[in-house]
Amino acid sequence: MLVDDVKRLIRTIPDYPKPGIMFRDVTTLMRDAAGFKAAVSALAAPFAGQRIDAVAGIEARGFIFGGPVAEQLGCGFVPIRKKGKLPWTTIGQQYTLEYGVDTIEVHLDAVRTGERVLIIDDLIATGGTAEAAVKLITRIGGIIAGASFVVDLPELGGMKLLKSLGVDARALVAYDGH
Ligand code: AMP
Repeated sequence: MLVDDVKRLIRTIPDYPKPGIMFRDVTTLMRDAAGFKAAVSALAAPFAGQRIDAVAGIEARGFIFGGPVAEQLGCGFVPIRKKGKLPWTTIGQQYTLEYGVDTIEVHLDAVRTGERVLIIDDLIATGGTAEAAVKLITRIGGIIAGASFVVDLPELGGMKLLKSLGVDARALVAYDGH
């Protein structure tokens, strides 16, 4: 299956969750056996030749893609969750949303010093969430091996932001606009 086929399996919902937003719904891609498999393989492929010690997935859709990517790369999985969800000692990182701020957290002992971590999420827009994930993993001693996304919205600048931080950032498909 080609990347074009993966793109065809992503559903676009105009004006969700609010007017002007084109919501890129990956549930239709996840539901398709061949599409899901192709997406997982393509997320992992750029990093298959290097040492990856853990995949860190961002709640919630980053868990669904990140789990099988970790399995494929032969490493374990680290959940990055919204504030208050993780049961052990955590550290948090605030990031800016369009309106207000939010916080994501990771377990303090999720990564050992010097371990190489691949960050996975379904979509990168402004890059605020991914940047916070990079900071979290770095603060607990991890090295960012890269970041892999199903969808990039290039006009929102997230991919550029990650690259400016020195992160090897990749995406399977891109859409114009928001
Ligand atoms: P950002 O922090 O701006 O890069 O936003 C990325 C997060 O917001 C991801 O976890 C996405 O799931 C979600 N997101 C942002 N924009 C969209 C969109 N147009 N369609 C679907 N999800 C989106």
